[in-house]
Amino acid sequence: MDREQIKALPKVELHCHLDGSLSPEFISSHLGRSLDFKDLSVSIECASLNEYLEKFDAEIKALSTPDAVRDGVMDVLAQADAENVRYMEIRFDPFCLAEAGNAMTPDDAVAASIEGLRAGTLKYGVKGNIILCAMRHFDLEKNLGTLSLVEKYLGKGVCCMDLAGAEAVYPTSGFKELFKAARTRNVPYIIHAGEADGESSIRAALSFGAKRIGHGVRMQGIRELENEFVEKGIPIEMCPTSNFQTKAVTGIYPLREFIDAGIMATINTDNRTVSNTTLTDELESAKGVANLTDAELVSLEKNAVNASFADEATKNDILKELEAFL
Ligand SMILES: [Zn+2]
Repeated sequence: MDREQIKALPKVELHCHLDGSLSPEFISSHLGRSLDFKDLSVSIECASLNEYLEKFDAEIKALSTPDAVRDGVMDVLAQADAENVRYMEIRFDPFCLAEAGNAMTPDDAVAASIEGLRAGTLKYGVKGNIILCAMRHFDLEKNLGTLSLVEKYLGKGVCCMDLAGAEAVYPTSGFKELFKAARTRNVPYIIHAGEADGESSIRAALSFGAKRIGHGVRMQGIRELENEFVEKGIPIEMCPTSNFQTKAVTGIYPLREFIDAGIMATINTDNRTVSNTTLTDELESAKGVANLTDAELVSLEKNAVNASFADEATKNDILKELEAFL
């Protein structure tokens, strides 16, 4: 498949942060000053995940009102539509937006994002769900607030809770109570793990019962752990450009290793603007680094469909389109 065919391929994106993926045009118009990718993205010289996370300031400031959050979600769906993404899950931390916002509560931010999702689906035909991120630097009480918002809007535009933030500073093992509460309330959750921290973080996420793992790249070379992912059928959300930028991966990208191990791998952007990338770019680079066949590229998209929180009809429609593509 060449680049144009990869662009035409029906696609699904599972790991995309709203506040790292707004177009420079959107941010410029909301902040009243002209900014481009040069100002908003990191280069490969980026030293760490912490330096990467500092790039989000302008985007968060551009999401200061419910209208801006609604329009921001539509802006990301427009980008997705331009490269034939059929379904996507967009994530953000509602408390962060409320704190940076102008008299906006976390609940207002979530309601606005769902409005943007509905309007964007009508306008662009891209379906989706919102994921709300609990944050590693928040205390339990605040994260339980995020959990309550997921519970309130579950099945109404929100599909699950995530845990995001500085993984190496706040280990996954410290969030036992949060995920216990999520299980009690029947709220599904996914966890960023194996990005800035290693095996212990991934093992903690698995022991908590995460439905999917964000990144997971640091299980590279750990066969026993890889086998556990295969046995349990836990999908991973890989984000190649971001993984190199944050130094989660510094050598060979583990996609080929994970595919050969039988892990349900998916490819994602993480942050379209901060990483200056698209899903087409990510799949094209994944094809290069892992020497993927056309059938393997289609399989990655089938994995994304099956790992998604989309309804069965949406999943079947996209799977049929993928069957017909090759
Ligand atoms: Zn992420």
